[in-house]
Amino acid sequence: TLIHSQTHVCTTCPYCGVGCGVLAGDGGASIQGDPQHPSNFGRLCSKGSALGDTLALENRLLYPEVAGRRAGWDEALEVVAAHFAAAAHDHGPDAVAFYVSGQLLTEDYYVANKLMKGYLGSANIDTNSRLCMSSTVAGHKRAFGFDTVPGCYEDLEQADLIVLAGSNTAWCHPVLFQRIAQRKKTHPKLRIVNIDPRATATAESADLQLALQPGSDVLLFNGLLNYLRQHDRLDFRFLEQCAEGYADALEMARQTAPSIPAVAAGCGLAESDVATFYRWFADTEKTVTAWSQGVNQSSSGSDKVNAIINVHLATGRIGKPGMGPFSLTGQPNAMGGREVGGLANQVAAHLDWNDRDLNLLADFWQAPNLARRPGLKAVELFQALKEGRIKALWVMATNPAVSLPDSNAVRRALENCPFLVVSDCCDATDLAPYAHVRLPALAWGEKNGTVTNSERRISRQRPFLPAPGEAQPDWWIVSQVAQHLGFGDAFAYRSPAEIFDEHARLSGHGNGGSRPFDISGLAGLGEDGYDALQPVQWPVTAQAPNGTARLWSAEDFAAHGRRANLLALAPKPPAEAASAEYPLILNTGRVRDHWHTMSRTALSPRLCRHQGEPYAELNPADAEPLGITDGALVRLSSRHGMALARAKVTGGQRPGSVFMPMHWNGQHARQALVNSLVSPVVDPLSGEPESKAAPVAVQSF
Ligand code: SF4
Repeated sequence: TLIHSQTHVCTTCPYCGVGCGVLAGDGGASIQGDPQHPSNFGRLCSKGSALGDTLALENRLLYPEVAGRRAGWDEALEVVAAHFAAAAHDHGPDAVAFYVSGQLLTEDYYVANKLMKGYLGSANIDTNSRLCMSSTVAGHKRAFGFDTVPGCYEDLEQADLIVLAGSNTAWCHPVLFQRIAQRKKTHPKLRIVNIDPRATATAESADLQLALQPGSDVLLFNGLLNYLRQHDRLDFRFLEQCAEGYADALEMARQTAPSIPAVAAGCGLAESDVATFYRWFADTEKTVTAWSQGVNQSSSGSDKVNAIINVHLATGRIGKPGMGPFSLTGQPNAMGGREVGGLANQVAAHLDWNDRDLNLLADFWQAPNLARRPGLKAVELFQALKEGRIKALWVMATNPAVSLPDSNAVRRALENCPFLVVSDCCDATDLAPYAHVRLPALAWGEKNGTVTNSERRISRQRPFLPAPGEAQPDWWIVSQVAQHLGFGDAFAYRSPAEIFDEHARLSGHGNGGSRPFDISGLAGLGEDGYDALQPVQWPVTAQAPNGTARLWSAEDFAAHGRRANLLALAPKPPAEAASAEYPLILNTGRVRDHWHTMSRTALSPRLCRHQGEPYAELNPADAEPLGITDGALVRLSSRHGMALARAKVTGGQRPGSVFMPMHWNGQHARQALVNSLVSPVVDPLSGEPESKAAPVAVQSF
């Protein structure tokens, strides 16, 4: 199998959660899809194909800086360690925090989490994955007792019905969408239902578009559950054998969504469309429901996830080929971050916050000071910073000044941060002006480690470029700070292979088959085995050395000694309603050719051509009374801030709502910061912000 051919290095795309295999040759001048990689079989989307355009060293941070001047690594590491030690000593361990990223590799993430939770003694490490799929984590935990994606990409090619909920798959997971489109060509029986207030590029391939009222997803899926009960389509054998809570869930569905007319009225849909969706779902055994941020980024995101999982559990359509509930993760390593406990409310190796698991972990890590309770989730963490409760913060590979809701307030909090460390591969970032210490990190093409994609597939990122300047891997930087803090022995890693080995051994430590996350079959690979590691889906154990495609069939529940839970869910509207002052509901999202805050994709002229500037999509029924014409400059405002954008007037936008992309920021368009408009309202269980339903006003500029 190809690892390093004569001309190419096999690696993994650094953008979305599809996790495509990439062949990089000639120092990145040649980029191709890896035909052997089971996530993409040679395909790449526009962003992946343009990776070669993004490798130049312009805007790279190449040397450590302390107080705005160039410093040596020793000095910078010592300053970081001294400030973190002093803050923890003077104010307690919860006065320090890390804010990390789904862009980190698993090995980086593992070491950062170990240092914070095991050695500094606080669980104040959270990640930008909080903004992406933490509602799914919460939903999985409630449904399965464990955060596991049950299915795999192949299920989408084996299904006869694909329901896409809150997911512009065509733009946000393009290669997966190409696989779906290919299946539709060769299998005309396949039907696609697209549930989205916007008629996105994904809608063009849908057999049925359900442009529902924003936030009404629980009502729609409760209605489906009730319909399945009324039409005798429940799998009681599966429910009795594997599940709890279904009587209450069914009763709640009956009460809240008693009929198709009631659902249609509540969701703002035509009765005939709701009836068609329900009939197709009831009649199609092989059904996958895939969702993304349109479901997750909500003050009731966890409930929406569980409403979807409910209908799959109720029909026993889970853990079998061509069927299941399927979360599409946004980032390349959101899943790997979950494996190492990178969220403030998670424990490494998907262990739990109980004495047995924590004692196992303390024993394995020989941790002197293991955190015993969850830490602050992203929005809480920056609120604590604003209130002066965080005295030392380290931000790794992410840009909270752009991506967090109420971003103006986040910037004010950063201004007052007593000690801020920023480790990043980029030089000019929105955080740079606030940083006391800056540490240069390696970028894609230089980094070496693993990521895990949406289908639990662990895949290698391999380097094919030399480290520029004095930039170092994130795992090295964190390990060095740990050593300066006096935790040398536990952080004496010499390579990512050693870290991965520890991670794999921890997953099997005291496991005995009770925890699905088990990659003990990948322990002991050594440097060569790690370098040669082929893409593989966890669990990977002695019994399943080649990985596991699906989980949570009836047999899996029995084998793991678990039962599923159906939840009784009362539909809730978004936390903030439209008003006379802010009459439109803002929905934020991605465009096809940019990634996050554009630090990489803006370097590619061809990627910038697709959407060249920030824009706001409005329905003609909203635009015309405001005198807004297509192409006009508009000003969006909310209780929290304002942003400028170019109007796109389109019937694809639901009346009463406005869409604006999330990418443009202080580096590229200072006045277009969409998250300055968004309230810091979160799902109470997951802490995920409501980025799809912010009341705003729009006017001509
Ligand atoms: Fe990269 Fe995602 Fe495109 Fe694949 S689909 S090439 S992982 S951005």
